[in-house]
Amino acid sequence: MIVFKWLARLLFPPRCVLCDRVLEDQTDLCKTCRLHAPECPISAAKRNFLDSWLALWYYEDEVRKSLVLYKFCHRRSKVQSYGKLLAMKIQEQHPEGLDLLTWVPVSAIRKLFRGYDQVELLANVVGRELGMEPRRLLKKIRHNPPQSGIVEEAVRRANVLGVYRVTEPQQLPGKRVLLLDDVITTGATAAEAARMLLTAGAKQVHFAAVAAARRMGK
Ligand SMILES: [Zn+2]
Repeated sequence: MIVFKWLARLLFPPRCVLCDRVLEDQTDLCKTCRLHAPECPISAAKRNFLDSWLALWYYEDEVRKSLVLYKFCHRRSKVQSYGKLLAMKIQEQHPEGLDLLTWVPVSAIRKLFRGYDQVELLANVVGRELGMEPRRLLKKIRHNPPQSGIVEEAVRRANVLGVYRVTEPQQLPGKRVLLLDDVITTGATAAEAARMLLTAGAKQVHFAAVAAARRMGK
């Protein structure tokens, strides 16, 4: 077993989740990224239908490169570090704990083409770290054009309106829900998902993502 571990480490040395540098120890970030990654400060501000939101970093430079590799180049192992780091930040902001853990799902067609739902994988790791079982509370019922191609806020909101359906409405009344996504850009997608959860009776929706556009912090 020790030999196997040694060999695995030799062939697949642990790498910084952001810049891919080989790491000396079992951390998730190299020293440079620990010091210089664009960390997103915790914001207590409510936003649209979100009672709170947080992200690990701003979506730029190495963070953007890392997430592009994760989402589009099958670098699934990155989710272990994202999930661990995100769970730590969630615990910091919500020491009292939350009732339910769910995520913003991708459409069935996107999952089919990509082979995985990258946010579901994230929810599995965050859930493991927080001792919560992720629940599939939302389903994407319409394959809308990607939000990344749309700049105007009103058009982004219209593009996501009605794309989610709550799958287990009986679970929600009175619950404080933790909603995850990989990236939050303007909050239109997260707000629409939260709106559906609140309509079904959730008491609060708290949001967490790996990265946020810098304009979210303003
Ligand atoms: Zn690094």
